[in-house]
Amino acid sequence: MKKHNFSAGPCILPQEVFLKASEAIMDFNGSGLSLIEVSHRSKDFVEVMDKARALSLELLGLEGKGYQALFLQGGASLQFLMVAYNLLETKAGYLNTGTWSSKALKEARLFGEVVEVGSSKDENFNYIPKGYTIPKGLDYLHLTSNNTIFGTQLKKFPKVEIPLVCDMSSDIFSRQLDFSQFDLIYAGAQKNMGPAGTTLVVVKEDILGKVTREIPSMLDYSVHISKDSMFNTPAVFAVYTSMLTLEWLKNLGGISAIEEINEKKAQLLYSEIDLNPLFDGYANKEDRSNMNATFNLTEDKLKDTFDTMWKEAGINGINGHRSVGGYRASMYNAMPLESVGVLVDVMSEMERKG
Ligand SMILES: *Cc1c(COP(=O)(O)O)cnc(C)c1O
Repeated sequence: MKKHNFSAGPCILPQEVFLKASEAIMDFNGSGLSLIEVSHRSKDFVEVMDKARALSLELLGLEGKGYQALFLQGGASLQFLMVAYNLLETKAGYLNTGTWSSKALKEARLFGEVVEVGSSKDENFNYIPKGYTIPKGLDYLHLTSNNTIFGTQLKKFPKVEIPLVCDMSSDIFSRQLDFSQFDLIYAGAQKNMGPAGTTLVVVKEDILGKVTREIPSMLDYSVHISKDSMFNTPAVFAVYTSMLTLEWLKNLGGISAIEEINEKKAQLLYSEIDLNPLFDGYANKEDRSNMNATFNLTEDKLKDTFDTMWKEAGINGINGHRSVGGYRASMYNAMPLESVGVLVDVMSEMERKG
């Protein structure tokens, strides 16, 4: 039986994407060859890469606006340092909203001065800092739009004159934003777009080429752009599967259509968390993430009962991250509303049983 998969990442993908990806493993486009045994320079694969890059820009509304989409390797974690390598000349600002932001900030310190413009570490990152000031003279400001581990999400983005960089690993393609306010967006595929192994980078070309240091080719965005994201062998399976997911999203009606469903899912779960006396939400209400809902049992002694019940209901992956504890239900794009319904039913059943 297919499980209701609330895993934070690698995560659920649409069932039809799993099917098409597995077909391509056996026979890619009727070629008599597997997707993973053909040259990445073959016409069929070049088309895949081109399509994945074009669909990314199209879905984000960034076509023809001076942006390039790249499918790189090394995960979002490599972007923590690649961003700084390419953009940090003297000083950068970072908003510290969780584990991933802290890691990005740490890497950037290897390349220049880093100002932590705000932090919610004092409350174990259960809220998004607001009203912080952004000092003058920054090369860029770095944000994390969705804090996968703590279940918080930026609802508003600061207006700045400097390049705005955003780690959108866990909420890219999930909600409508004016994506042109960002100059560089990156996202590890395995949260909301595809399997692990590739990272989408969307970068505005005119912010590049400003630092004086020499950049190794593999870490230089301009090199990857000049080679159409094929400087070296790309992660062919991960790129192909991401392309299938992007096609699925486009056919569904794009980001605005998925956003509506994502809001329904989040509302359903959060209203249960708020109404059911056996559960407490972790994140500050106004900062709650529509992708990752974090919550706790109000009484620890109910843990075994609850764990047995959700496992019996076919639910997978709702144990919280070790730095928060409790539970975390990740409701990425491919998660059906019905699966959230199953979890909510288990929670209300717990209450009924008393
Ligand atoms: C998972 C995650 C990362 C790390 O991604 P990797 O691809 O494993 O390096 C970075 N940022 C955010 C917001 C994440 O959720």
